[in-house]
Amino acid sequence: MKSKQQNITTHWRRTKIIATLGPASCDEVMINKLIDAGVDVFRFNMSHGTHDLHRSNFQRVRSISGKSGKHVAILMDLCGPKIRAGKFANGEITLTEKETVTVSCQSIIGQPGVIPSQYLNLYKDIQPGHRILLDDGKMELLALSVHDRDISCRVIYGGVLSDNKGMNLPDTQVTTSSFTAKDKLDAKLAIELGADFIALSFVRNQKDVKSLQSFLKKSGATIPVIAKIEKPEAIDNIDAILQTAYGIMIARGDLGIELPAQQVPLIQRDLINRARLMSRPVIVATQMLESMITNSRPTRAEVGDVASAAFASADAVMLSAETASGKYPLKAVEVMDSVLREIENWQWTSGKFIEPYWSAANTKSSERKAVSHAVTALARELKLQGIVVPTRSGATAIILAADRPMAPLLGVCSDVIICRRLSLHWGVLPFLIAEHQSHDWKQLCQDISQRCQLNRTGNTVLLVSGFNDDPTLNEPVMKIMRLE
Ligand code: PEP
Repeated sequence: MKSKQQNITTHWRRTKIIATLGPASCDEVMINKLIDAGVDVFRFNMSHGTHDLHRSNFQRVRSISGKSGKHVAILMDLCGPKIRAGKFANGEITLTEKETVTVSCQSIIGQPGVIPSQYLNLYKDIQPGHRILLDDGKMELLALSVHDRDISCRVIYGGVLSDNKGMNLPDTQVTTSSFTAKDKLDAKLAIELGADFIALSFVRNQKDVKSLQSFLKKSGATIPVIAKIEKPEAIDNIDAILQTAYGIMIARGDLGIELPAQQVPLIQRDLINRARLMSRPVIVATQMLESMITNSRPTRAEVGDVASAAFASADAVMLSAETASGKYPLKAVEVMDSVLREIENWQWTSGKFIEPYWSAANTKSSERKAVSHAVTALARELKLQGIVVPTRSGATAIILAADRPMAPLLGVCSDVIICRRLSLHWGVLPFLIAEHQSHDWKQLCQDISQRCQLNRTGNTVLLVSGFNDDPTLNEPVMKIMRLE
């Protein structure tokens, strides 16, 4: 199988790449290289860095992507109520299996046998029999009893616990809000800078998403919210979360600690299908090319992980420390890009494209969805070179994208904010045009096809238009256009 693509319809990668920006990747030269290598969205991880640093990185990304001519979005990821252990007098303590230790909710410095919790209400939420996982699940405690603000625990799996390591509470309903005081300050920065997306961590239910949305609304901002799915409660409430959020991120790092890791692959598949059914973008995140933090080549298993996210039809795959602080940020993006292209090229040339998603039998669909299904069938049967979608709010392109049509979706819009937003969605290539260009469809198809080199005489593209934000004004049209 050849990996180099000649055909323009396979040249465009459908699955989008998100790269986390950090010390390894935030200088001008590297940002340029990462955009050239195929980054569609940069993620700013608000768990690290000062506002001044994020502000200058933000402006640098905007300026470089503006010059590149590519619509690159910025996602600001709020850290949420990540629960952490506190500091130790000697920087670390050793936990030995079967010993009894105290997790203390008093503002103290830790010592051997005493682990301070930065979450001071933990003693109110936890019950005997609940597990406390430390440092990404490397160590495990079992809560035995609670006395005042101290929790007595047995060490199940020991190890060395150093300052400020994360604590996961898979059995405990944590009462703290998922939108913290620090998140509010970070959300204000996202509003000030004009971020394209905000991700909310440790979402449990629809209410968590709504609390950030109403904060944004009160500030007059319309930034789409991505709900990070990393708690068991979020899985139980997924349909309501999908109804409310703009999209979801399958945050497999924390999810794989809070739930048995073997459940994550099936959850990933199910969440991708559910998100597509509701026309929501879905991001697969964490440890995709983890070994590339230190090695120049991925493991074969990591290549398989990226490939299976593409087969399962995720909108986007995400790199975290690989690009933020790893030794090979550019190589990691190049590897991810080449794996995705290999899979998508095979899908296109073999005709074994992504299956339509399941839907409840014998239920009435919306006009947009029905047209979208028809577009997907036309793209497949006519091997269309492209689907030109003039879109004002992005909605028509987003709904079509959820069906994963074979032909590239050429999202044409006169609003640069919507163009950047579309860069997260599977298979959509955003094009910025002047408002008046959207009126002459024949000319528009000709121009856009030329811009993406589809304009061989006789090639056909499909134009889909006519949807309005007000459904009573919908006059959907599909037009097959032969290029001259
Ligand atoms: C995750 O847990 O997988 C994740 C993406 O969240 P974070 O990197 O913010 O911990």
